[in-house]
Amino acid sequence: MRQKRERSDVVVAGAGVAGLSAALVAAEDGASVLVLAKASHRSSNSYAAQGGIAAAVGPGDDPELHAADTLAAGRGLCRSSAVGLLTEEAPARIADLRRLGVHFDEGLGREGGHSRARVVHAGGADTGRHVADVLTARAREHPRIRLVEGERITTLATLRGAPVVLATGGYAALWARTTNPRGAVGDGLLLAHAAGAALADLEFVQFHPTALRDANGHDGFLLSEALRGAGATLLDQSGERFVDELAPRDVVARAIAARAGASLDLRPVERDRYPTLMATLERAGYDPADEPVPVFPASHYAIGGIATDLDGRTTVPGLYAAGECACSGIQGANRLASNSLLECLVFGRRAGLAALGGPALEADAAPIAAAADPGEELWSHAGLIRSAGGLRRLLDSPHPLVRLIAASGLAREESRGVHFREDFPVESAELAGHLVVHPGREPVLERWS
Ligand SMILES: Cc1cc2nc3c(=O)[nH]c(=O)nc-3n(C[C@H](O)[C@H](O)[C@H](O)COP(=O)(O)OP(=O)(O)OC[C@H]3O[C@@H](n4cnc5c(N)ncnc54)[C@H](O)[C@@H]3O)c2cc1C
Repeated sequence: MRQKRERSDVVVAGAGVAGLSAALVAAEDGASVLVLAKASHRSSNSYAAQGGIAAAVGPGDDPELHAADTLAAGRGLCRSSAVGLLTEEAPARIADLRRLGVHFDEGLGREGGHSRARVVHAGGADTGRHVADVLTARAREHPRIRLVEGERITTLATLRGAPVVLATGGYAALWARTTNPRGAVGDGLLLAHAAGAALADLEFVQFHPTALRDANGHDGFLLSEALRGAGATLLDQSGERFVDELAPRDVVARAIAARAGASLDLRPVERDRYPTLMATLERAGYDPADEPVPVFPASHYAIGGIATDLDGRTTVPGLYAAGECACSGIQGANRLASNSLLECLVFGRRAGLAALGGPALEADAAPIAAAADPGEELWSHAGLIRSAGGLRRLLDSPHPLVRLIAASGLAREESRGVHFREDFPVESAELAGHLVVHPGREPVLERWS
């Protein structure tokens, strides 16, 4: 692989917002950084992000209020120390982005679960593209960063000799119906696990309530939560509203899944604020000014990931993780909208700083194996509504990550946040912790503070 040819002080796997945040801070501190990404930055989840980034920057807002909303959404499972850092550092990270050249729109958005309008956005619903473009440009022009796109890492063995930051994104694209670009299949989790790292919270995957439903079923195009914040309403087949549109995503998603069909009425929304989104709908054959558009839930965000401390350290010396591939406990059992780009900014930076002073990765690791697309089996047996019978079937899946997701889903004999078990429909106080999977072992419950 090309990355072996030059020595770097830090190696970053992944060029989304988390990876580029880690790379830029390390390079600013004087390190030479190699960033490897399997695809163009335009195919990352970061680039696809729409709604915005949460930060307590508005009048009357405060990081403590942001933290309280995050903890409430997380249903008793957020690591409070991580949430404290996330929300306290948020305004400074937004200021960093402005300094780097991101132009945010006027005003703040209000999204589900937030008690204040606190979501900064760029280009209406094009926030991810604006931020990813600017960070990529800054990385490309940086004299100490070498950004290589089109290199898929299949083993960490080739990266040994420098601290390695994994920022390879989540695994929500493993499900058949997803809002994610196809590359979000959990490579980083498998790479880390093969090197001995613990994974955590794998059973928690958030389903977005409102992906566009096309004539054949679903195309996964996300109709951002910001639209509901801006007045869009959800209607059932009789044209009646049936749910608080700003309730947490799991509540809205299950309310939609329980109905034969639902549609999103965009007529109250000021169309000029979302030009790209409206144009996409029109290209798909809908006229949002004239009638509601059909929507359905789709797998959207992987809460679980590589277990880390507050500086991105995994359980393997020299190996760090940040962004959606990591699990530091911020999102708890349900992610609060617009907290994930923020997680990438805050914890990408922290991981980059920690890697600078950290040991080199020396652990050995087998290559990750290819497996058939598990999309339909996950959708059927580990979707919005789960049960022991379905999850048990996944234990025989040829896909190693699917087996670990199933084992975690089975062990969590309760319903909490985005994990809903019809055979255990209520929360269990005994399970108020994180299910951590060490290589070759069954999930164990840990409490993180
Ligand atoms: C449609 C959509 C809308 C969203 N809207 C919002 C929003 O409004 N606000 C918000 O906060 N969050 C939003 N999210 C979530 C957010 O975008 C993601 O959580 C976040 O961007 C993840 O960033 P990341 O840097 O961790 O990973 P990504 O941006 O997914 O980047 C992963 C990188 O890793 C690389 N990679 C993966 N595997 C390998 C490998 N084996 N070898 C080498 N490179 C590899 C990829 O090529 C890519 O460069 C949205 C997500 C989607 C899909």
